[in-house]
Amino acid sequence: MIIIDGKKYRDELLEKYEKEIKENGLDITLAIILVGSNDASKIYVRNKIKFCEKVGIKVNLYSLDENTSENEVIKLIEKLNTDETITGIILQSPVPNGINFDKCANIILPNKDVDGFTSENVKALYSGSEKIIPCTVKGIIKLLEHNEINLKGARIVIVGRSEIVGKPLALALTNRDATCTLCHSKTENLKDFTKDADIVISATGKAKIINSDMVKNDFIGIDVGINRDNGVLCGDFDFEDVKEKAKFLTPVPGGVGPMTIAMIIDNLIYMKRNEEVNNG
Ligand code: NDP
Repeated sequence: MIIIDGKKYRDELLEKYEKEIKENGLDITLAIILVGSNDASKIYVRNKIKFCEKVGIKVNLYSLDENTSENEVIKLIEKLNTDETITGIILQSPVPNGINFDKCANIILPNKDVDGFTSENVKALYSGSEKIIPCTVKGIIKLLEHNEINLKGARIVIVGRSEIVGKPLALALTNRDATCTLCHSKTENLKDFTKDADIVISATGKAKIINSDMVKNDFIGIDVGINRDNGVLCGDFDFEDVKEKAKFLTPVPGGVGPMTIAMIIDNLIYMKRNEEVNNG
């Protein structure tokens, strides 16, 4: 069994990005809008800043009060949209009650939409002409490709149908000629689907729901979940139980998570390059 080391690959990518930014003099600035004081969000934002700065990307953090109105958030996004010094924008999720996240995120210009959540970027993914795709989805695809895992014709079962992971992932993998099945909490007999899959990708947020009875020999397991089991960080797979049957398996922590951050940088470089092309 091969443990897919997302942290190691992230570090290799960061080195590559740092070199690319330096050698080409890419002047990239990311704007992050954080509304309220959600503790988990603060940690995510701190990490985004740390890794961006590490590779030479500037970050402007707009920390807004819990009581900020939706209108103020929209005004800030509109200002950043027209600011030529800003390469990309992230509206950190979740936002406080009273602010509609989807509505605000959709105001970000598609070519500054680092998370790939705007209708135009979703439509491009849907129609098979991807532009900017969500960072976790891109990270999973990079991990699979880096390990030379065949996607064409592969039977892939995705567990979890959220708009940030499961659904866009199903589209992105379908675009790469995989045969995808999307399962969720109303799926009857989940095992009937997972046990025939070449690749099982789980993003449910339910600790250890995938066990060795549910997978075939030599399956490939990609674990997106971040959970706590008796206080210990773990994924959606029961790692110790399934590892004997796996050909490749991502650990939690250290698998998909590190890749998500690297893909923020990947998307920003893509945007900067595009900006340069568009400006002639
Ligand atoms: P959501 O809560 O938005 O979606 C969870 C999905 O899992 C839903 O579609 C739900 O089904 C499905 N589900 C829940 N329980 C079961 C079950 N018992 N059997 C089958 N399906 C089930 O979560 P997210 O997509 O936002 O995140 C999922 C997990 O991935 C979380 O642990 C999150 O922390 C982690 N995550 C990790 C990232 C990373 O970078 N590593 C990035 C993003 C998320 P239904 O639709 O029917 O409710």
